[in-house]
Amino acid sequence: MTSLPLVFDAPKRGLPPRHLADLSTAQRRDAVAELGEKPFRAAQLSTHYFGRLTADPAAMTDIPAAARDRLASALLPPLLSPVRHVTCDDGDTRKTLWRAHDGTLLESVLMRYHDRTTLCVSSQAGCGMACPFCATGQGGLQRNLSTAEIVDQVRAAAAAMRDGELGEPGRLSNIVFMGMGEPLANYRRVIDAVHRICDPAPDGLGISQRSVTVSTVGLVPAIRKLAEEGLSVRLAVSLHTPDDELRDTLVPVNTRWKVAEVLDAARLYADRTGRRVSIEYALIRDINDHPWRADLLGKLLRRHLGQLAHVNVIPLNPTPGSKWDASPKPVEREFVRRVNAAGVSCTVRDTRGQEIAAACGQLAAEG
Ligand code: SF4
Repeated sequence: MTSLPLVFDAPKRGLPPRHLADLSTAQRRDAVAELGEKPFRAAQLSTHYFGRLTADPAAMTDIPAAARDRLASALLPPLLSPVRHVTCDDGDTRKTLWRAHDGTLLESVLMRYHDRTTLCVSSQAGCGMACPFCATGQGGLQRNLSTAEIVDQVRAAAAAMRDGELGEPGRLSNIVFMGMGEPLANYRRVIDAVHRICDPAPDGLGISQRSVTVSTVGLVPAIRKLAEEGLSVRLAVSLHTPDDELRDTLVPVNTRWKVAEVLDAARLYADRTGRRVSIEYALIRDINDHPWRADLLGKLLRRHLGQLAHVNVIPLNPTPGSKWDASPKPVEREFVRRVNAAGVSCTVRDTRGQEIAAACGQLAAEG
């Protein structure tokens, strides 16, 4: 296997101590045995964490106190503490700002819809991709999140839904890796997190892989690698414009992997998994919302992905003080019409959390 290029190397500093959710089922048994405990304690811990959604050792009363203390200090170090919750959309959207063990701030957003509840998770603190219209991109990358730090965002949200913190008790059904960070730049930890999120309880949180979306700005070698993982998660490619000239500016990693290469990798992913790829397009006034760009987008997607693409147009949620703004509604409608006219399915994404600055990274930036 070829080694991944330098763009994937992120600082390793600040990662938290090992946690149960970093480990596979077999590794959990080994870790428990190394502590001199019976292997079945691994299953007990997993049942509490993944099945009952608790990370509080005091609640694990079926484990004798001495063993519990030993296991908890070795395998359940505190990971994330909530700094604050901000709610909007009549209580259906809640953004949480978390503080990690080293003071790093990150965020996740829980969105309740009539037919599903989706959590948008962060995979890195900050982001190194430097997209100029994005709040997270302005601060640069602080560090990768550990597998367990990703999983714990999901566990906490699943518990919040179960406990009725967003109205009627419900079930967390969907996960999108669209919070802070470029998920495929933290590749191994994100893949491990997908397994922990999707493995059936008590090995994992039991959310269907088909209900998980992994987004990327287009790290081509990582997309190709993902295609060989045997997963059935949805891939979302943040394209934002179909022409290399503008994309070199809007998504600077495009200077390394061009639009055509990204779409070819997306095609490989669609072919391997049988899943349509989401093409994300943040529509920005007078920047990428021109009719000719809609036509070119439609043409390129037809050529590279055929029926295997769906375009999500996302009205830009402007960063405070930024020159970037959302496109007017008639321009947005015309854009969508043209992409559809090219035979490519295209809809406008329901944008949640506008009042609470839910464009990725804004809450942490204000933190
Ligand atoms: S848009 Fe996504 S990839 Fe680009 S800087 Fe922001 S978080 Fe990173």
